[in-house]
Amino acid sequence: MQLRRTFQFEAAHRLPHVPTGHKCARLHGHSFQVEIVVDGPVDQKMGWVMDYADIKAAFAPLHQRLDHNYLNEIPGLENPTSERIAEWIWSELQPALPLLTEIVVAETCTARCVYRGA
Ligand SMILES: [Zn+2]
Repeated sequence: MQLRRTFQFEAAHRLPHVPTGHKCARLHGHSFQVEIVVDGPVDQKMGWVMDYADIKAAFAPLHQRLDHNYLNEIPGLENPTSERIAEWIWSELQPALPLLTEIVVAETCTARCVYRGA
């Protein structure tokens, strides 16, 4: 069984390695959407894989570090593409959330990145 919980954070970034003149070289911001996905068996007594509140609690410290911040200043996010953000969230979150199977990062409504830990 799979659970998905969606979060949102607002943040600024710029991409330092894009060609001169690329719009993403300029400082700008997004309303990022992050989907945290866990897979696991349904506990027979509780009737759930895990408490959605525990997913929120696990992500809360990361949300605090990301929300309304300049992502390039966060160690590990010096080149804050969606791909790097997904990897960073995975590495920070996985120890607290061992059932983690997927991170989805969307920087716009029409563009999203899926990371499954490899
Ligand atoms: Zn951007």
